[in-house]
Amino acid sequence: MPTFALISLGCPKNLVDSECMGGALCRDGFRMVGEPGGADLVVVNTCGFIADAREESYAVIGEMAELRRRGDIGKLMVAGCLAEREREDLLGRFPEVDGVVGVLARDAIARAARQVVGEQAERQAIFQPPPCPAGDAERVRLTPPHVAYLKIAEGCNRLCSFCTIPSIRGPYVSKPFDQVVREAERLAADGARELVLIAQDTSSYGRDRTGGSQLAELLQRLDRVEPLRWIRLMYLYPALITDALIEAVNTCGKVVPYLDLPLQHIAAPILRGMRRGVSRAETEQLLDRLRGGIDGLVLRTTFMVGFPGETEQPFDELLDFAGRQRFERLGVFTYRNEPGTAAAALDHQVPEEVKRARHDRLMACQQPIAFAWGDRQVGRTLGVLIDRCIPGEKNAFVGRTAADAPDVDGVVYVTGKGLRPGRIAPCEIVARKGYDLIAAYQP
Ligand code: SF4
Repeated sequence: MPTFALISLGCPKNLVDSECMGGALCRDGFRMVGEPGGADLVVVNTCGFIADAREESYAVIGEMAELRRRGDIGKLMVAGCLAEREREDLLGRFPEVDGVVGVLARDAIARAARQVVGEQAERQAIFQPPPCPAGDAERVRLTPPHVAYLKIAEGCNRLCSFCTIPSIRGPYVSKPFDQVVREAERLAADGARELVLIAQDTSSYGRDRTGGSQLAELLQRLDRVEPLRWIRLMYLYPALITDALIEAVNTCGKVVPYLDLPLQHIAAPILRGMRRGVSRAETEQLLDRLRGGIDGLVLRTTFMVGFPGETEQPFDELLDFAGRQRFERLGVFTYRNEPGTAAAALDHQVPEEVKRARHDRLMACQQPIAFAWGDRQVGRTLGVLIDRCIPGEKNAFVGRTAADAPDVDGVVYVTGKGLRPGRIAPCEIVARKGYDLIAAYQP
């Protein structure tokens, strides 16, 4: 059995694509190995939506190309968003690359791999037009068994002026309702206790099929999938959030009161320039509805600073807004001038050092808010999902509360006997350490 190694870069949606490509290769008789060295085939699933991500992808491809040149690996294939964007140019740029498979042609990976590793090895370049593949059933899991990402839709119909994703992943395609439920049941049977629902825009789930959002209905149905414990909603768009959805988050026992809602900005001229299609007033009304409708809500958002035309006044407005709204979780990105986007053609580009300074000022505004939230948890007993043991330390583990999404939020350091990864254990929060918490297991 030819062996293959998978390197997955970028976002959780790309991670699901990597898991599906791994599943397809295994079904086709390949065997997955953990390390590239010695593998007959290495597949790098790339990210390409902003310059930094492309640089990281080039660097990893370059490393694997070096191994290919030295004969430490057999063949090298590149997949994902960078492959979709740059196509055959990647074959020119990296002569060591044997095959390129676009993000939309993900399900052709095994066929291409056979061509690449076969006797009559031929360089491959496989792409296909939208829409994206609609099913992610057969996956090799790259996350810990108790956590799984479930992609409920792919592509995007929004027109954010700074974003390249719609041009890479195509129009919005909701996964059929029953297909999502089957995949959730399969992941739960395969050990998942936390299911993280993802898409470019989860709020719009079902709209392309029914004209309206089906997200509330989907949560109510997934709430009956056993033995899941937590269902987490990421990548909501600040529009199409219905009262039914708020009700579902508040009443479905497994749906954690945690929402990821990237807002990007709040000042009217910047929201218009970004083509976000929502106003400050609409955003504030939505936040009031969410805070008023969901008990114990933990809100994560993301802001982008340095968008063209962002002078001190709109930035100060954003800073003031973040200070008032007191988001429990907040990420800040600096605007990237992406070729081919509408925003790239805008005047009044902001100098890098100004972007950097605004990033740091917004994070400095957020830190005491996040720390105050952490301090309020001390003395409480919370359910902590144990993610892993701490090597070399007895009865010491790392986990997360329902208020911590994987890979983007803080963690909880837990001590206690009889714990194991995948278990949600009652733990008393005894201290805060930066953005993280310290806890003791309370059997
Ligand atoms: S919602 Fe906007 S930022 Fe998000 S993927 Fe779609 S176009 Fe890009």
